[in-house]
Amino acid sequence: MSKREAESVHPDANRYGGWHWSRPRHGEHFRRCSYCGSVHPEDLAAEALWTAEWADQKYGWPHKFYVNVINRDPSRLYVLGSSSGQSYRNDPDKQPAPVLKSDTHEWVRWSELTPAQLAIVAEDNGADYHADWIEFGYRPTHFGKLYTVHLGDPALPADVKDLIERRSGLAFTFYEDGRVGWHPAPPYVVTPTPANTVVSTQTGAPNTVTFNPPLQ
Ligand SMILES: [Zn+2]
Repeated sequence: MSKREAESVHPDANRYGGWHWSRPRHGEHFRRCSYCGSVHPEDLAAEALWTAEWADQKYGWPHKFYVNVINRDPSRLYVLGSSSGQSYRNDPDKQPAPVLKSDTHEWVRWSELTPAQLAIVAEDNGADYHADWIEFGYRPTHFGKLYTVHLGDPALPADVKDLIERRSGLAFTFYEDGRVGWHPAPPYVVTPTPANTVVSTQTGAPNTVTFNPPLQ
């Protein structure tokens, strides 16, 4: 990380001890900013396949767009949901499995989780996490976002910025103070996404079912 990047991309982070690029987690293969969650621009540019969706052009600075990055390991299982039923609090083993969202997903009772499945839960939801049922499934894409403030780092290679411009359908303007302006670049194509639909409640089901939000 360049000195200017560290000090000026997120000046607000100084009061929290600064920021850094976090190592890839959750089966992802790109770094993320510890402060805003942005995908590292160079890691995004290195991906062969990704699509962008401009997120907040109306909502002021800092701007971001969402990206769907193809999962390099489509066989990896993720925790996609969990369920805990209050009415079975005294005997969770009698709680029926929630309704499956698709035939590629699977609900597993907590007491029947294998060590490998427990390791996935710890990785995706934290070591202290617990629920009566865990839903496992696949993720064809990783859901990320890119804050354009990270493109303002003068140490970022020009070809990385150019590639992100072409692929996102946006043209950027870089100002001396580190801000980044943008305008649509022809052809202005916004690809509809995302694979990560967030559903908070499955109404009518006997239990409250929550699904993991897109990973930060
Ligand atoms: Zn950031």
